[in-house]
Amino acid sequence: MNFISTRKKQTVNYVDAVLKGLADDGGLFFPENVPSDNSFLNSFCENSFQENSFEIAKLFFPTIPNEDLREIIESSVSFPAPLSQLTENQYVLELFHGPTLAFKDFGARFMARLMNYINKGESSFNVLVATSGDTGSAVANGFYGIDGINVFLLYPSGKVSEIQEKQLTTYGKNVTSLEIDGTFDDCQKLVKTAFGDNELNDQLNLTSANSINIARLIPQSFYYVEAIKQLGENHYPIIFSVPSGNLGNLTGGLLANKIGFDVYKFIAATNSNSVFTEYINSGVFSPRKSVRTLSNAMDVGNPSNLERIKFMFGDNLELTRKVIFSDTYNDEQTLEAIKEVYNKYNYVIDPHGAVAYNALTDYAEKNNLNNYAGIILETAHPAKFKDIVEDAIGINVELPLSLNECIKKEKRTIKLDKSYDTFKEFLLNSKL
Ligand SMILES: *Cc1c(COP(=O)(O)O)cnc(C)c1O
Repeated sequence: MNFISTRKKQTVNYVDAVLKGLADDGGLFFPENVPSDNSFLNSFCENSFQENSFEIAKLFFPTIPNEDLREIIESSVSFPAPLSQLTENQYVLELFHGPTLAFKDFGARFMARLMNYINKGESSFNVLVATSGDTGSAVANGFYGIDGINVFLLYPSGKVSEIQEKQLTTYGKNVTSLEIDGTFDDCQKLVKTAFGDNELNDQLNLTSANSINIARLIPQSFYYVEAIKQLGENHYPIIFSVPSGNLGNLTGGLLANKIGFDVYKFIAATNSNSVFTEYINSGVFSPRKSVRTLSNAMDVGNPSNLERIKFMFGDNLELTRKVIFSDTYNDEQTLEAIKEVYNKYNYVIDPHGAVAYNALTDYAEKNNLNNYAGIILETAHPAKFKDIVEDAIGINVELPLSLNECIKKEKRTIKLDKSYDTFKEFLLNSKL
């Protein structure tokens, strides 16, 4: 299986697709031909989460020996994605049972293990990640303790929550946390400048681990299949409601659909950063600066995976709309949803899942759906957004054990100013 750039000027094998991240023509990699008649579809209901994930991964990485691929899957898909039922028609798919309590663990762990497999410990790589929260901790956790791969996390000093900061700064070993005196944009600019700096690249083997890497996208199809499996036999039509920012999670679902799993509709639920909703509804895409919301992991003004979605549908809006519906909700509506889900169903949902709950509920109502299986993707543990959730429903949200451990650890960072020269000098002196 080769991977083609969404701008169609480059086709590479999986090794190059994973190591490069972005194609030379500026496009994103996508599987060249996604096989759609797959025999394991007949038996997926009897398979374990790991077994199905292995079968899916094999479609995209057929040249990796089974034994090795199985090992990658077993160590990355190492926690469950249970379905919790709210009503006769509505379910929550809990994607927060991984080590950093957000769905990004699936992608980050798989990518780290695949990169390690490709590298076989032979050379040393340096992974640079700018983060404003969830991505950084998932990537750090994914690569933690892997020989030959050094991770540098850049985060804006004083601009992440206390819990997030602990999750970013308590690893050690091959993970170095750089506390940048600047904004998230400054961090991102430092990383981008480093990737474009030939002198630096000649001396250091730099790799990006950001969300556009194909190795993060493919595992995000696994849990859609796991959700369909848990529904059992008689629950059609299936609707997935996906809290969306960069649209990587949604694209993972589209991939599951493309390999043969029937889905009636995908709902892309956005917060006030609604450029994708506007695109679906009007055909006009106008990227702009993001605004801050309560569901901050979705605060994206220029969603990178739109390019993949357009590529999948041949840039045909009518075809896209057959599969994807989108709607947008503001912070007030998000808080209302957190309250409603708690009061009606005694379920504590996080702000991201709450946006998806709103979108699903309204969609079903407007379309008079009585018999459907609506699945809300709950992308983060509510305790990651403790203050917001506690304010909304007035109860104490317990931190899970793993977060409790991490909070007790000491923060370790290196403080740098936001100038590129300082950052470059630091990297060159790190003797990697
Ligand atoms: C990243 C993230 C999202 C958005 O996912 P995309 O793939 O960027 O659309 C939603 N919720 C949480 C908790 C996240 O961390």
